[in-house]
Amino acid sequence: MHVTHLECAKCGTNYEANKIYNLCTSCGKPLLVRYDLAKAAETLTKESLKHRVSSLWRYREVLPVVHDENIVSLGEGWTPLLHAKRLGAQVELPHLFIKDESPNPTGSFKARGQTTAISMAKELGVTKLAIPTAGNAGGAMSAYAAAAGIPAFVFMPRDTPAANRIECQQLGAEVTLIDGLITDCGAEVGKRKEAEGWFDVSTLKEPYRIEGKKTMGYELAEQFNWALPDVILYPTGGGTGLVGMWKAFDEMEAMGWIGHQRPRMFSVQAAGCAPIVRAFDNGWDEAPEFENAHTSASGLRVPKAIGDFIMLDILRTSGGGAISVTDEEMIADTKVVGAAEGLFCAPEGAACFSALKKMLAASTVSAQDRIVLFNTGTGVKYLEAYSL
Ligand SMILES: *Cc1c(COP(=O)(O)O)cnc(C)c1O
Ligand SMILES: [Zn+2]
Repeated sequence: MHVTHLECAKCGTNYEANKIYNLCTSCGKPLLVRYDLAKAAETLTKESLKHRVSSLWRYREVLPVVHDENIVSLGEGWTPLLHAKRLGAQVELPHLFIKDESPNPTGSFKARGQTTAISMAKELGVTKLAIPTAGNAGGAMSAYAAAAGIPAFVFMPRDTPAANRIECQQLGAEVTLIDGLITDCGAEVGKRKEAEGWFDVSTLKEPYRIEGKKTMGYELAEQFNWALPDVILYPTGGGTGLVGMWKAFDEMEAMGWIGHQRPRMFSVQAAGCAPIVRAFDNGWDEAPEFENAHTSASGLRVPKAIGDFIMLDILRTSGGGAISVTDEEMIADTKVVGAAEGLFCAPEGAACFSALKKMLAASTVSAQDRIVLFNTGTGVKYLEAYSL
């Protein structure tokens, strides 16, 4: 509702609302959805939220889709914010929280992006969907495409965890396995999409996935009673969630819900695929492709992110940073988090705790800080990684 136009994140070119877009046609960078926030704030009030649905669609006014009947929802979002008291006590951080995204449909927060992307695809009359995926995005896309009745074509690396492949197939998608990485899958979709009539739902290459992911920022604010946390650790692949939450903070400020204060944002990556960490450490504005990318945290196996320049800007503006952890560290910490909190994390989620320990050692965080770790998915989808 209340979308006014789309705007390029790099060159600022404006685009008319309610048309099918991928990237900016003048500079090739991602497009962001802009709203009439004054209008949205007339009905979307803190008070009104007390009576809204228990899904991310509770923030209806600041989400795209004109006609409600086009919304494709499986109950995504509005996930628990857990006060991780036992885990926090182990590292003497009494204000440690975990935003647990594992209860989402298809077991990861990718459902958030797909509910908005597929709803918009339905509204705009898209007839075939294609996606390159490192794992969870394919499952979520297959689920929402099935619920929308739109055929789905999924391209994933041959060594993607079996759970991801089987899930897509059982949700009715046509799965193609590629010898290579997600970037190779993306190239294959790019090469064939025109002839096949596919709409490409790659992250940040269409404008609406980020709109679903940004609701994590709205939820954090609402669950913390409109005071944002001090520190956020986010396991970063394409960076949609990081960019989305930052956008949500700005929108909430424009609606008068929060002040100018922002959390320090930290990007957590795998040592075997850390393009953002490398770029941050070197002071670069963009993150070149990371060679020979490898990690069992498939959501982090993104060697080149199209939203790199936006992420790096957010990390620096917020006074945050970027940290890499090894697969061994995240696998070991899955059990630490699991045994303390009763939560079987995805390795991407456990990686945030590994990174937090490094930040503690470097005195980057202190006991007064309210800290949020994102557990972005369920460990059940990564059994191969845990049976080594
Ligand atoms: C995709 C994914 C990520 C990375 O998310 P981005 O918003 O693309 O950076 C992290 N964890 C899991 C489990 C994922 O599936
Ligand atoms: Zn542009």
